[in-house]
Amino acid sequence: MSLFDSISFIKPGSWLGLLGGGQLGKMFCNSAQQLGYKVVVIDPSNDNPASAVADLHLQSSYDDEDVLNHFSSICKSVTVEFENIPVHSLSFLAKKKVRVCPSYESIAIAQNRILEKEFISSLGIDLAPYAVLYDYEDCINISENLFPGILKVAQLGYDGKGQIRVKDKGQLIKAFDDLGKVPSVFEKMLPLDQELSIVVARGFNGKTQEFPPSINFHSSGILSSSIITSSNHEIYSNIDISRVSFIAKKIIDSLKYTGVLCIEFFIVGNRIIVNEIAPRPHNSGHYSIEACITSQFEQQVRAMVGLPLGDTSLMSSAIMINLLGDVWFDKSSGLQREPNWVQALDILGAKLHLYGKNEARIGRKMGHITLLGNDVYELNKRAYDLCSIIGIDYESV
Ligand code: ADP
Ligand code: MG
Repeated sequence: MSLFDSISFIKPGSWLGLLGGGQLGKMFCNSAQQLGYKVVVIDPSNDNPASAVADLHLQSSYDDEDVLNHFSSICKSVTVEFENIPVHSLSFLAKKKVRVCPSYESIAIAQNRILEKEFISSLGIDLAPYAVLYDYEDCINISENLFPGILKVAQLGYDGKGQIRVKDKGQLIKAFDDLGKVPSVFEKMLPLDQELSIVVARGFNGKTQEFPPSINFHSSGILSSSIITSSNHEIYSNIDISRVSFIAKKIIDSLKYTGVLCIEFFIVGNRIIVNEIAPRPHNSGHYSIEACITSQFEQQVRAMVGLPLGDTSLMSSAIMINLLGDVWFDKSSGLQREPNWVQALDILGAKLHLYGKNEARIGRKMGHITLLGNDVYELNKRAYDLCSIIGIDYESV
């Protein structure tokens, strides 16, 4: 190890801090504990996936200074499980000499669509045509070329929430009202050929390591499945995939980032358009738990403790299928039911992850299944069978 590495290295046995208690946090805890670290999590709810496995849960809002003081006295390095942590809490922790990974400057950009788009476009990277809206006048003055489009609140949206699709100015004004007249972006609806994402990590020494890009399918704005294979040329539409890596590296290096970052792309013809970035592991990277030598969660731990980033090589092709609360309800009767796990896990190569959420709700992410295999077309067939057992409409490549 170089002198720099040995200075930035935090030893196993130390405490790591996590802001947010969702499923990404739970999987982060699993990896941190595997490497011998202890995790303290702040989350306001008393029942969340991460606190069920963390070594300590501080049940609190994210901006209580007493709690943040206590938190910073326990842990050496802090990371986030979702992007909507108040930036002033992150800068408060940074002032307490706690290592905040990624930095609050990067999180501030990623949690605000206006700043995010300004940043991406300042790098000369292609974006969907958009306008920023602060008030009715901005809605009225908007260019007709942007219709039909999607109104997205600048902050706090996720999984398609905080978004409304509109066809004309009248609908836009109503949508702006419905979303609370908050600062927003209005994006032109694009005819997407494909959606891709790439998870990339950067360590303290500036070295980066990418995971293989996944092809993603969404339903009602929520990720439904991802497919990952090394036989890229067969399934990536029309584009040179090395351009996606080039853009990812440009973004993570320009942010001088430390940690794990996901970049979502839209492919339209041969255009590679950045949709958004997430300053954390991502649902579309869950396949890495079983399919890569190092998972995105282990990479998050390695980056924040100053360990070398792990090998992200793909050991097998994979299809990841999200389990939303919808599958806990019978489609015709609407009555609650338990999905048929016994039959589902009889499918070759199926690995089930349930996050331990007590209440299934429509659209709520309850778990996922990763299917592993070598031949992507055969894998696709198994994914189709699995989805029909569970009651999911499967969209395939
Ligand atoms: P979220 O933060 O909820 O993930 P996104 O901006 O990624 O919000 O939008 C969710 C999904 O909606 C995208 O993955 C894509 O399927 C669809 N979508 C969003 N913006 C556009 C657009 N401009 N054109 C076409 N589809 C879009
Ligand atoms: Mg998205």
